[in-house]
Amino acid sequence: MIDIRSMSLDELTKYILSIGEPKYRAGQVFSWLHRGISDFEEMSNIPKGLREKLSMECELNTATVVRRQISKSDGTRKYLLKFSDGNCVEAVFMKYNHGNTVCISTQVGCRMGCVFCASTKNGLVRNLLPSEMLAELFEIIKDTGETVSNIVLMGTGEPLDNYDNVIKFLHLVNDERGLNIGMRHISLSTCGLCDKIEKLSSENLPITLSVSLHAPTDEARSAIMPVNKAYGVRRLIGECKAYFAKTSRRISFEYTMISGHTDTMQRAEELSELLRGFPCHVNLIPLNKISEESLLPSSNEQILKFKAHLEKNGIAVTVRRSLGADIDAACGQLRQNYIS
Ligand code: SAH
Repeated sequence: MIDIRSMSLDELTKYILSIGEPKYRAGQVFSWLHRGISDFEEMSNIPKGLREKLSMECELNTATVVRRQISKSDGTRKYLLKFSDGNCVEAVFMKYNHGNTVCISTQVGCRMGCVFCASTKNGLVRNLLPSEMLAELFEIIKDTGETVSNIVLMGTGEPLDNYDNVIKFLHLVNDERGLNIGMRHISLSTCGLCDKIEKLSSENLPITLSVSLHAPTDEARSAIMPVNKAYGVRRLIGECKAYFAKTSRRISFEYTMISGHTDTMQRAEELSELLRGFPCHVNLIPLNKISEESLLPSSNEQILKFKAHLEKNGIAVTVRRSLGADIDAACGQLRQNYIS
């Protein structure tokens, strides 16, 4: 079957011409697909014959809600979504002042092995297709009845480990005939695959790149992120500087505060040294405790001390506001509880 919703308008046009239909149908079909239809019959201005042909040759990858948790305090909604092959991923809807934001998954599972992350516990199952990443959005838009203006690729999976599908998704979601979400309203978070960061810098996409740094030295970072053994902190920061030089887009570093490991004043000093003079942003994230691990979140007091030290060294830093605390919206936990 043809994965029609993953096609660019150019690809769709070629396909439409190849089945003997006029070119203008491609634009019409593209618009319907990106309004989130779940059945070709919904394409009311497309002749019945073409609708039937499409439904015989093409599939509409959709997602369905398996579980939904709604925060009473801030309206955050966490979803467990199922694809046609039975695999599930998580996605989260959040209301911020700057607009409604959806956090989507890019893979079923993950093979990066970060010790504090629930999404990686059973390894990688498979990559998501562009149409499946779109399906996460369409299902959430339908369920909430809200519009979405921002996307973060921070759910399950390593986006740069599913590079081609993610780039295709970004172009599709940005298309003005589709959801039309501005690249500047999209953040992509990576654990730091250096060769892929370099490749991304050539795509000319004004998205925000978030890099999960979490520790300032090789010894400390390798202990919690196996990917660090492949690239190392120096190379990673060098790659980030090259990315900024090429794109002029400031990098946002994610830094998880783990008690006694990443949150000490020595680490604050090492981090300040590492980032000195580099125009970037550091986002401190209180660790979301996952049941199997002994790692503990830092105290608020320690987070504020750490933050003050970075500020003293001229580094732009914020503490991530935690939404959905009452629904356990932490990374990967809904799926983990479901499959185990
Ligand atoms: N693979 C990508 C994107 C998915 S993870 C990446 O590594 O960036 C999204 C963010 O959540 C990353 O910064 C990740 O390190 C962080 N994260 C994962 N588990 C966490 C936990 N238990 N507590 C706090 N942050 C966590």
